[in-house]
Amino acid sequence: MVTITRFLQMLRGGAQMTLTTKPRGTNDIAPGEIEFWHELEERIRRVCSAYGFQELRTPIFEHTELFQRGIGEATDIVEKEMYTFLDRGQRSLTLRPEGTAPAVRAFLENNLGAGSLPVKLYYYGPMFRYERPQAGRYRQFVQFGFEVFGSADPLLDVEAIMLPLELYKACGLSGFEVEINSIGCPECRPNYRQELIEYFEPRIDGMCSSCKSRLHRNPMRLLDCKVEACQEVLAGAPPIAKHLCADCSQHFSEVLSYLDALGVEYKLNPRLVRGFDYYTKTVFEVTSKELGSQNAIGAGGRYDGLVEELGGKPTPAVGFAVGVDRLLLALKVQGKLKSEETGPQAYLVHFGGETKRRAAWVAHYLRSHGFWVELDYLNRSIKAQMKAANRLNSRLVLIFGEEELDRGRVIVRNMQDGHEQEADLQELEQLAKMVGECAK
Ligand code: AMP
Repeated sequence: MVTITRFLQMLRGGAQMTLTTKPRGTNDIAPGEIEFWHELEERIRRVCSAYGFQELRTPIFEHTELFQRGIGEATDIVEKEMYTFLDRGQRSLTLRPEGTAPAVRAFLENNLGAGSLPVKLYYYGPMFRYERPQAGRYRQFVQFGFEVFGSADPLLDVEAIMLPLELYKACGLSGFEVEINSIGCPECRPNYRQELIEYFEPRIDGMCSSCKSRLHRNPMRLLDCKVEACQEVLAGAPPIAKHLCADCSQHFSEVLSYLDALGVEYKLNPRLVRGFDYYTKTVFEVTSKELGSQNAIGAGGRYDGLVEELGGKPTPAVGFAVGVDRLLLALKVQGKLKSEETGPQAYLVHFGGETKRRAAWVAHYLRSHGFWVELDYLNRSIKAQMKAANRLNSRLVLIFGEEELDRGRVIVRNMQDGHEQEADLQELEQLAKMVGECAK
């Protein structure tokens, strides 16, 4: 039996836990790791600008209906994974689980299609899905994604594959594979849906409850089911190819011929469907051999009906999203994340009192010139300050001794070769130059 005292202790223990433990499925990115994110973010910006993309930032939360309409009701995300809440005005809002529907909403709301087409936008930021966390699958994760609005050109489908491949290569990643399929359009799907229903109906008893509930509402969703027990039935499901209408067939063969012409390797996967209802025609996914079951490092496709579905005029579009956490995981496994030795350009050693005031003043001057400068805030001994400078890997140490200060000077010690010289405190420009030179 639990006594009241024990019960109160447990409650307190639980409260303490929530103060010192992050929510399940989330990650802290601390110093030591954040540098890799910065580098990747820089690469993303570079590759996006080479392809003519501009950044779009949308809110972290949107009206729930945007995702229900945009992603589709009979999808895992909308049925089970959204973080949805009522705000104090009783409006239903949802933490964004993906970036395409918000990008379309922003494209329409800001009339971004008014100028010349196509419009190329990219986004970068956290997404939220209530999934079962495991390595590479989180409840908060970062996606970099991009969208092209206003052209049905199959070359854009191909560029939507090439851009992330450029990024993966620029990061040094190898061993990834592109899978591609066409899932047709509203014109060619009804017959395929019928064929799927006829195939699944006699086999549905052995399948999971999601598959059972979606069989008649959205049979293509079944192809995306990840439940182990359903996989054997899924492997035998008929592919869409023979149902594709002339336009979709033509589009897909042009996509493939551009891929061949541009030397992009890919694998046809006739059962690739993706977890969103908005896709039409081409869908693709990139997987990394380095990751376990969560091996998709990016995915995308064409979605020619979504802009209209969300209230705009018919506007063809294509996009892609890269899972940034997973890309970094794959790079880590391949030993491609190397931390660079960093450290301040100068560590200012002082003796307290007036020497500390002068050090603070010089620190401010050097920092305003862009140098990384550290000084002691713990009133440590000179020996301890020198040790701290060493530990931080500082290139120079500036020693503010009383006797030197009386003469208006400071000792500059190069920590690599131990060489010491004096600098004039009246000539701070000279000092900054010296720091710049020594720190190279
Ligand atoms: P999706 O938006 O589902 O097409 O996913 C695009 C990419 O985002 C995937 O290929 C993954 O790399 C990444 N991703 C999706 N869901 C998660 C998650 N729960 N945790 C980490 N990365 C994810």
